[in-house]
Amino acid sequence: MARVQGASKPRGRINVMDDGLIAEVVAQVLKDFASGAGVPAACSTGAAPAAGEGIFDNMDDAVEAAVVAQRDYLLCTMADRRRFVEGIREVILQQDNLERISRLSVDETGMGFYEHKLIKNRLAAEKTPGTEDLVTEALSGDAGLTLVEFSPFGVIGAITPTTNPTETIICNSIGMLAAGNSVVFSPHPRATEVSLLTVRLINRKLACLGAPANLVVTVSKPSIDNTNVLMAHPKIRMLVATGGPAIVKAVMSTGKKAIGAGAGNPPVVVDETADIGKAACDIVNGCSFDNNLPCIAEKEIVAVAGIADRLIAEMKKNGAYELTDQAVIRKLEKLVLTDKGGPQTSCVGKSAKWLLGQIGITAPDCAKVILMELPKEHPFVQEELMMPILPLVRVADVDEAIAVAIEVEHGNRHTAIMHSTNVCKLTKMAKLIQTTIFVKNGPSYAGIGAGGEGYATFTIAGPTGEGLTSARTFARRRKCVMVEALDVR
Ligand code: NAD
Repeated sequence: MARVQGASKPRGRINVMDDGLIAEVVAQVLKDFASGAGVPAACSTGAAPAAGEGIFDNMDDAVEAAVVAQRDYLLCTMADRRRFVEGIREVILQQDNLERISRLSVDETGMGFYEHKLIKNRLAAEKTPGTEDLVTEALSGDAGLTLVEFSPFGVIGAITPTTNPTETIICNSIGMLAAGNSVVFSPHPRATEVSLLTVRLINRKLACLGAPANLVVTVSKPSIDNTNVLMAHPKIRMLVATGGPAIVKAVMSTGKKAIGAGAGNPPVVVDETADIGKAACDIVNGCSFDNNLPCIAEKEIVAVAGIADRLIAEMKKNGAYELTDQAVIRKLEKLVLTDKGGPQTSCVGKSAKWLLGQIGITAPDCAKVILMELPKEHPFVQEELMMPILPLVRVADVDEAIAVAIEVEHGNRHTAIMHSTNVCKLTKMAKLIQTTIFVKNGPSYAGIGAGGEGYATFTIAGPTGEGLTSARTFARRRKCVMVEALDVR
């Protein structure tokens, strides 16, 4: 802070300025703010925005532009940051934009369900935390006052998936910009158009609000090569990967600060104390949400024998199409599994009706999930299919159900669901499975704020331990220490 002339500061005493001097300083500061002096041109509301769309032909140029943007952004005020974050929410929530990105997401990737994309994009825009997430810690005492504050990392490289392409860009942009960073996105090549459109919409809005140009950038032709350039770039301070095991491992091997939001295989346990009708309805709704694309969606049921038949009957009333013929189940295996036993990309995110149609079954429109009873070793149980195929594993009791759920979750620490009214068993499962999200007596999507309390995130970092990411995850904790003063207790 500039020293005010004539105001000497005796040791051990609080410095007191006279009223006239205070008025003079305040008047000057207000004048500077009104004229825009002292802040970058782009942050003063009157300045003409540098209208870029944030899309570059090569990754190096994208990173360099984001570096300049972030330097300017450091000089913007917290009020500016709040305006920019609100701007991102507004532009996405504009009905025509919401519909456009949701429609294009389904059309381009060939995955998911339009009405549910609308819900997911709205959720990302409305419920991702902004600057309010950066709560300052204050420690005061005889030695003075210390503030611990969340400061930006710098330029973040964010790698985004094909399953939630726009939701991840919206959610990451809000959190990363709220924390004072700029971000370079490397989208999945199969979601190029919709990712570029989302980046473009965000940039146009930020430009109108007078933000530094290129706070959110990407490349015109996303590719694995471009992702590799991004990961190796010396000016990228932090990498955030939202995707499968390969990309999580890749970012963790770079030697940089890396956040890995990886695969899940969420089990849902149902015991004899559950409200079976509600559990059945919640499970069908959660599993069929966006055709099972969300990494948090129910992927397999582990049910105790005493209620398994009743649960199956109730699920059928709620849109489950049951397969009992082993030959038909084998046909489905051939359709949806690769030779290595993993999910066939062409079937990921397709509807139950479409999948059944491919094996010669004409299902009614109300068929939302394909249900069948299988042993726990079956690939439908073990693999993360991301299709509305729901195997049920029958077990003797709730303790066995919890053990099987832990086994098939594979230590991903991602998401698990349990329907039970036995608080001891709910507690046991939550403690032992250690997933980032644990939903009790609701559909999985309650865990990201849809019908459940709490904020939304589309980057759930199990492997690297940040868990539910938000603005503060993309920041560094820094200390500002004022010695011997400002403790006023
Ligand atoms: P994916 O791993 O195929 O792709 C994700 C991103 O990583 C894409 O941008 C892709 O181009 C890139 N990529 C993948 N392998 C790479 C490599 N070897 N080198 C460089 N770049 C690479 O995943 P996907 O099919 O797009 O998404 C589905 C997966 O993501 C599922 O496993 C799902 O559980 C997971 N996911 C996790 C979360 C979470 O928050 N934990 C959220 C969404 C999706």
